Amino acid sequence: MKIIFATKNEGKLREIKAVLGEYFDIVSQSEAGIYDEAEETGSTFEENSALKALYVMKKTNSVVLADDSGLEIDFLGGRPGVQSARFLGHDTPYDIKNNEILRMMKDVPEKQRTARFVCCISAAIPSENGEPQVLKAKAVMEGIIGYKIAGQNGFGYDPIFYLPEYGCTSAEISPEEKNSISHRGKALRQMKDILLKRFEQ
Ligand code: IMP
Repeated sequence: MKIIFATKNEGKLREIKAVLGEYFDIVSQSEAGIYDEAEETGSTFEENSALKALYVMKKTNSVVLADDSGLEIDFLGGRPGVQSARFLGHDTPYDIKNNEILRMMKDVPEKQRTARFVCCISAAIPSENGEPQVLKAKAVMEGIIGYKIAGQNGFGYDPIFYLPEYGCTSAEISPEEKNSISHRGKALRQMKDILLKRFEQ
């Protein structure tokens, strides 16, 4: 069965193929001929992932998966949250974004530096006679905001996301290790089980 993944991000496509490729024929939205994407106007990860999946589903009439993720920092009232990609501007380098967060968190004690990466994946399933079905999987990776930038792996906010149980940031563990504990890895494995049950493969 074919499933379209609504993303333009090659890294995410590789991750999803690694978990679901054995069971489903995963194609990217551009392979399915869709080059634009939904505006992320929702105020939660759930809403935004559903918006993205439904947008491509309506254009293709296929089962479509989409994810939405971000970093919630408790001391900043949950920011950057759903705005993570757009924080300080979409095209601003992460070095600048990460240094700004470290500045905002300067002198904040460790106990108040708690944060988490959140990922919600939605599957939009077309229906012949009614509302499409939307199935969701959500997971988090807990950590704290470190005091400095460290590590070359990962992307985005990984160099400031400190994992106390590893004694380093999520940019310092291997991609395989990160995938086994990450918000996206966990949500993907949940979604695999949800889809296998739904389509009984
Ligand atoms: P999305 O592509 O709209 O889901 O935006 C997710 C944004 O959240 C990314 O651009 C990053 O800023 C941040 N983010 C999500 N997951 C991670 C991660 O695993 N490491 C670092 N940053 C992440």
